[in-house]
Amino acid sequence: MVSAAVLGAGSWTAAEYGLHRFAMHELRGKGLASREHLSHHADVTYFSPASKKLASAAATASVAYPVASAVAGRRWAAVYTSAMLAMYFTYEVAHRRIHTHPPKGRYGRWSRRRHLHHHFGKPMRNFGVTTPVWDHLFGSYEDPGVVTVPRRMAPVWMLDEAGEVRPELAADYVAKGGRVRGATSAERDRLDAFANEPPAPELFDVPG
Ligand SMILES: [Zn+2]
Ligand SMILES: [Zn+2]
Repeated sequence: MVSAAVLGAGSWTAAEYGLHRFAMHELRGKGLASREHLSHHADVTYFSPASKKLASAAATASVAYPVASAVAGRRWAAVYTSAMLAMYFTYEVAHRRIHTHPPKGRYGRWSRRRHLHHHFGKPMRNFGVTTPVWDHLFGSYEDPGVVTVPRRMAPVWMLDEAGEVRPELAADYVAKGGRVRGATSAERDRLDAFANEPPAPELFDVPG
């Protein structure tokens, strides 16, 4: 049963990678999942509503459980599917917190650098959010280095009142461009997101 739990959680991380890369980025806005995800890239404060997430979790379980059940029996499949859903939920919380809460500890710092590099540096690299294992395996890993962040898209925890990167984060991030996100940059950000291009760091927009 431990094997079922480990395999279930591991399967989610593979699904996280595959869905994020192929169903979301490669499809460039075709289909609901891709549109929702690229909207999150265009506006990093946008997250799909919980109803859509629950629907996708139910869809995942309705495929995973019968397949696992046919292969290894119902008890094993129940543990496997539960572990997969638990890891999916962990991913949802971890991803949300990357955008909304400052890093705590080494894992938090490392996962933020990888995911924010995916957002602001190379959208076609570092698809794994909870783990970079699948990126390493499939050649899509890139070391984030120091991540350049457009000020208008910076997470709330990153900048001080003057709009500068907080001193404790200065080794990981550089902020560029204006802080205001007006209609011009919003439109440009949407085009870039749906083309899998990083947002332009130096955009300046007038308030309004
Ligand atoms: Zn994100
Ligand atoms: Zn993405």
